[in-house]
Amino acid sequence: SSHGDARTKVRETLRLFQAVCRKLLQSEESKSKPEEAKSKQGPNRIDLQAAKIIKEKGKEVNTGQHILGEVPGVEVGDEFQYRVELAIVGVHRLYQAGIDYMKQRGMLIAISIVSSGVYDDGLEDADVLIYSGQGGNVVGKVKTPEDQKLERGNLALKNSISVKNPVRVIRGSKETKTSESMDGKGKVVTTYVYDGLYNVENYWTEQGPKGKMVFMFKLVRIPGQPELAWKEVKSSKKSKVRHGVCVPDITEGKETPPISAVNTIDGEKPPPFNYIKKMIYPDWFQPSPSTGCDCVGRCSDSRKCSCAVKNGGEIPYNRNGAIVEVKTLVYECGPHCKCPPSCYNRVSQHGIKVPLEIFKTNSRGWGVRALTSIPSGTFICEYAGELLQDKEAERRIGNDEYLFDIGQNYSDCFVHSSGQAELSEVVEEGGYTIDAAQYGNIGRFINHSCSPNLYAQNVLYDHKDKKMPHIMLFAADNIPPLAELSYHYNYSVDQVHDSDGNIKVKKCFCGSSECSGRMY
Ligand code: SAM
Repeated sequence: SSHGDARTKVRETLRLFQAVCRKLLQSEESKSKPEEAKSKQGPNRIDLQAAKIIKEKGKEVNTGQHILGEVPGVEVGDEFQYRVELAIVGVHRLYQAGIDYMKQRGMLIAISIVSSGVYDDGLEDADVLIYSGQGGNVVGKVKTPEDQKLERGNLALKNSISVKNPVRVIRGSKETKTSESMDGKGKVVTTYVYDGLYNVENYWTEQGPKGKMVFMFKLVRIPGQPELAWKEVKSSKKSKVRHGVCVPDITEGKETPPISAVNTIDGEKPPPFNYIKKMIYPDWFQPSPSTGCDCVGRCSDSRKCSCAVKNGGEIPYNRNGAIVEVKTLVYECGPHCKCPPSCYNRVSQHGIKVPLEIFKTNSRGWGVRALTSIPSGTFICEYAGELLQDKEAERRIGNDEYLFDIGQNYSDCFVHSSGQAELSEVVEEGGYTIDAAQYGNIGRFINHSCSPNLYAQNVLYDHKDKKMPHIMLFAADNIPPLAELSYHYNYSVDQVHDSDGNIKVKKCFCGSSECSGRMY
């Protein structure tokens, strides 16, 4: 479908941009001292550098003629970590100014606004947005404030009242995030969300915060667009009850934060299983311990740390814990290393940090989603279960819903987002499978999608057997709150057989615009 194609392009561009940002950040971080945790818009503005690279590669989308209304491939609820991301996919093309506009029949009209919250716009009611005009130096410190003028963006917004054209609204929201690697210090992060199309209804003037005149515009969301997820999250936070909870904690206290089960479809509760946090290995599994590094601090010198050397001479994570890029295998520091638990090369071994819930879907059984926004590169969870030899897994054939075939990724050839193909080391067909049917963690509830937002990464830390890596799931995109988490199960159609050798067919209900119709 044409929407599917446009969506694929937008996702590709954003993934490439995010990958470039993480790579640039990695190289900045390797130059700086571990204590100097850089803010994402540090002196070197990696976002601007990355946007420049995207432009040079010709990967920008929707940046030709001005687009009025919906932008191909961009959906309501899409999240962005940087203002420039909005520009490279054509949602809001200006890096700084809050109002973008164009000329139509000799008249300026508004096409998109970014509501950054600086002017304290009333955002409580999601369908009505009060937006203050631009200019007049009414924010910031340096210049003398003056009255705003009815020109440019302000004039365009005023004209849009009579023209009644749709205006795209992007909402920036500030959140204080604490991460362990930053010693629990809070850092304010802004996320931008595309909230959809609005009409400008009226405008007036007010005395602004600096005593000067500012324009105020009232925008109303055009009905019939998808609900805003942040509205639901906010309302359940306020009332402290999540609607539809049928099991308060499916982990029975084993995970923090707890994971509840939500069902707003029918009266079913999730079928019982034994919740485990770590892999269960069989008795015969006696792997050789991995050799550890001798670093005293948090492993930041990628030339000296022997674990970094195993990762190709770099720490595979940013200081904020985001994975930099897909690798055949990631070596985290482990129990045999001298570095502390807060080492930058220990991420997925620390377990789940994102607040998750399972929810009943209408066609795919139970699924998993998060209650917060997730930046791309974030670790989500392990696929934990019992480790089996393939022959044993084949015996469980009638009960194969929770099997994850491991080690197979090694024979693949990874195509990096840079477009470069990397031939990975080939390990002989080892043949191990993780079964999460009886014993498993939250990972067992994550469904398949033909356009997934997570990917599975092989990770080693507590032993060195490459045939049995940990399967760690990471965010491939910026994921909005309450969006279903999914990865690609990697089955090939017509390649899955039953015990009599007949081809098995399973329909896919992922619902994405790129769905192939079949899981296998
Ligand atoms: N939905 C499962 C549940 O309720 O426990 C959790 C995922 S489990 C690992 C895999 C099973 O979920 C599959 O065998 C299939 O029954 C279902 N499933 C996962 N992704 C699906 C999809 N895209 N379309 C249809 N069914 C799906």
